Amino acid sequence: MQDFSYARATSRAEALALAAEGDTAILAGGTELLNWLRIGIAAPGRVVDISRTPGMDGVEALPGGGARIGALTRLNDAAQHPLIQHSYPVLSQAILKSASAQLRNLATIGGNPLQRVRCPYFRAEEPTPCNKRAPGSGCAALHGFNEKHAIFGWTEDCVAVQPSDPAAALAALDAVYVTERRDADGRRIPARSFHVLPSEDPTAHTVLEPGELIVSIEIAEPATRSAYLKLRERESYEYATVSAAVVLDLDGEVIRRARIALGSVAMRPWRLDEAERRLQGQRLGGPEVEAAVDAGFAEARPLSSNAYKIRLARNAVLRTLNLATRAS
Ligand SMILES: Cc1cc2nc3c(=O)[nH]c(=O)nc-3n(C[C@H](O)[C@H](O)[C@H](O)COP(=O)(O)OP(=O)(O)OC[C@H]3O[C@@H](n4cnc5c(N)ncnc54)[C@H](O)[C@@H]3O)c2cc1C
Ligand code: SF4
Repeated sequence: MQDFSYARATSRAEALALAAEGDTAILAGGTELLNWLRIGIAAPGRVVDISRTPGMDGVEALPGGGARIGALTRLNDAAQHPLIQHSYPVLSQAILKSASAQLRNLATIGGNPLQRVRCPYFRAEEPTPCNKRAPGSGCAALHGFNEKHAIFGWTEDCVAVQPSDPAAALAALDAVYVTERRDADGRRIPARSFHVLPSEDPTAHTVLEPGELIVSIEIAEPATRSAYLKLRERESYEYATVSAAVVLDLDGEVIRRARIALGSVAMRPWRLDEAERRLQGQRLGGPEVEAAVDAGFAEARPLSSNAYKIRLARNAVLRTLNLATRAS
């Protein structure tokens, strides 16, 4: 591990000022960053600790409905907050399925969507062709170990997936990442386009720019009928093979609006736009529901070893629709 200096921000202005200086990595909970430092994924000259910056944590109701979650809110605190549990069960469930209880006590909701891919070539301790680690070096996973990799939105330059559970729930909720920068205006970035697809830039993970901090995450409206399903090789302390986040707006037995985001199937939480469109006006449990979900998978493309993920994800969506229907 390369030596680095350490600084702790005592105010938001100081955090933004320190973040804007070059050769700097931000530390919030540190549960992801420390792995990068150890493996050599990141080798900054300075680490800036923002974990105790005042005014960047906690959950509050927004005027007129909705919720704001401070970026430094610990995952467990966000999941167990009454407003999140009651109005956004999909998010509470997704968070509680993430990592372990100990990690969730430290990890923050702002740091979680910024975790990088779990691709074994990206995380390798020896040099391996990987466009995300070494731009232009190629993609070892394309014809290598790719059982857990993408079925949507990949290119030959990168076939990895974004593994965050909360990010999938936030995409289904149409949440917004609120950012601030020292030298430019802050931004409001829709969760569904926060992560970068390989066709846009195979070397990038998110649209966040150097020095830009997430200060909060906002969700516009309550979504009590919602559910999250995570399918994985073991029931705890494991990343998703696929996950599904569903948010439903019902009129009796009829679907007024459905929002569906899949996790761990692409480099960003993958909204099933075509399925959502076809589900509108359908009766719950009707035969058209399966056909509508199938339409969402028309553009799915398997790699050499992961065709099973298409069926797994399709069935996960159907199960999660049922779970959300029963939620109240
Ligand atoms: C063993 C293990 C298992 C895990 N399993 C899961 C799982 O099943 N599901 C899941 O979703 N996640 C899982 N994770 C990931 C974990 O949830 C993340 O490591 C954690 O949420 C990251 O948050 P953090 O605050 O610790 O980020 P940090 O490690 O502090 O930061 C990571 C990076 O994010 C950036 N950053 C952090 N906060 C901000 C901010 N406010 N603004 C701008 N940039 C910021 C910085 O660039 C920083 O370098 C697992 C992690 C581990 C170690
Ligand atoms: S899938 Fe992406 S992260 Fe994995 S080796 Fe290929 S370029 Fe690297």
